Amino acid sequence: MLMKSLHIKSLGLLGGEPTLHPKILSIVRLSKKYIPKVTLYTNGRRLRNKNFVKNLKKSGLDFVNFSIQTGSKHAKHHDKTVCVKGAWLDTKKAIENCYKQKLKINIQTVLTHTNLSIYKEIIDEFSYVNLFIYYREIPKVTPDCSFFDQKVLSNNKTKSVYKSVYLYSKQKEVRTYLFSRMPLCWWNEKKEKEIFKSVTSYCHIINASLLTVDVDGSLLPCPQYVNMPVMSLLNNGKAISKDTFLREYQKGSSKSIREKLRYIPDKKCLSCKYLGIRCTGGCPLIDFKIGPNAPFL
Ligand code: SF4
Repeated sequence: MLMKSLHIKSLGLLGGEPTLHPKILSIVRLSKKYIPKVTLYTNGRRLRNKNFVKNLKKSGLDFVNFSIQTGSKHAKHHDKTVCVKGAWLDTKKAIENCYKQKLKINIQTVLTHTNLSIYKEIIDEFSYVNLFIYYREIPKVTPDCSFFDQKVLSNNKTKSVYKSVYLYSKQKEVRTYLFSRMPLCWWNEKKEKEIFKSVTSYCHIINASLLTVDVDGSLLPCPQYVNMPVMSLLNNGKAISKDTFLREYQKGSSKSIREKLRYIPDKKCLSCKYLGIRCTGGCPLIDFKIGPNAPFL
């Protein structure tokens, strides 16, 4: 009811692995009663069972978002990474099942140092679904900020990898999107017109456009910001009212984290038509020096 009273338009069920929840079908059913669009983010292994997929569809599920990094040729590598023999085949079967049930499908993957041929392999194999390249340069953020130590692609490399992925996808009539930590204007709007349209550099925390709720009812700043609850949506096991939510949301840690991260990296941004719509100047979690005039590495 809280979600409905807040006019939430879209709900994503994430994990861990949400399909392992014993009441996942009831959760989907209940969510759909109050929210127009419900998406499941999954590794897809349980969806190899076509009856389970049918039941998800019957419960009102709209979208399934599969998180994969390889195609069939690298299935062994995938199985080794997730430590489950046969995991890749399960996921592949799951995608087919969802397709047959006419569920809307996205595939999200992360641009890494992986060989480009793997992206091509995913595009070739799943060109019948909406390929959704989700570039997540930002691993999960923890309070000790250990993400800074993790190796990520440089901005330069990201551009060159995504350009190749985009052009190959276009050739195969597959749509790709890039959710980038880089400021939008690091792409050349005139020279890279088409690719530019497929890129977003938007921060949900700053714009307060996404609510991330943990299983215990606590509110997280965003799906990348884990173990840092800013408030609880429950009181004695029951959802708080809309008024209580709005009161709490406008103060305390919830407000301060938004204010702390809200910054305008450059004067140029103030007159930019994309500010707050498609760009927030770059991801503030990574580097406060980011912005249209910061060094492009
Ligand atoms: S908001 Fe700032 S960083 Fe983003 S595209 Fe505009 S000028 Fe560039």
